[in-house]
Amino acid sequence: MPGSRGARPLAFVVQKHRAGHLHYDFRLEHEGVMLSWAVPKGPAPDPSVKRLAMQTEPHPLDYNLFEGVIPEGEYGGGTVMIWDRGTWKPESDDVDRALARGDLKFRLHGKKLHGSWVLVRTRDRTWLLIKHRDEFASTEDLTVTKPLSVVSRRTLAGIARAAGASARQLEQAAGADPPRPARGAATAAEPAPSRLARAARPR
Ligand code: MN
Repeated sequence: MPGSRGARPLAFVVQKHRAGHLHYDFRLEHEGVMLSWAVPKGPAPDPSVKRLAMQTEPHPLDYNLFEGVIPEGEYGGGTVMIWDRGTWKPESDDVDRALARGDLKFRLHGKKLHGSWVLVRTRDRTWLLIKHRDEFASTEDLTVTKPLSVVSRRTLAGIARAAGASARQLEQAAGADPPRPARGAATAAEPAPSRLARAARPR
């Protein structure tokens, strides 16, 4: 129906980005752009954990597909991984009002992130990203247990290497991968399941 809204699912993406410092760019599609927050420690599915999320400039939708290396000297220079992606749904009635109020509730349907979350503004561009209590809440540290790209299954170092990153960028990317060998690496044994991981997770 012309003019009807909400028919097409809204995109969300989380890009792990080793620039000057490691952070996870958390982006939600809204009115033709990706609203963006830089989350230094990455999203945590534990409702008792509040993750700092610094609001940044909205990004174009095209950028959701970017995984690779931004050259040194350019803004955001460093390696970028598509760490998670999927669709999101506001749980607040009016997204613009929720943003203005600094309290946006939403559901994520990603490969790593699921269920109900909230972004709460504390001041200016400073927000907190918090998981709501639901069946997807968990104490699992997804940045450690699920470190690979959801589109290419590569590590950050693998992405940097394939893109011909500088030696310094490659070293920084490798330093931002968890210490344990990643699943799928040629020499890696199958990692033990996390003690904190749920035995059976709903899809
Ligand atoms: Mn970034």
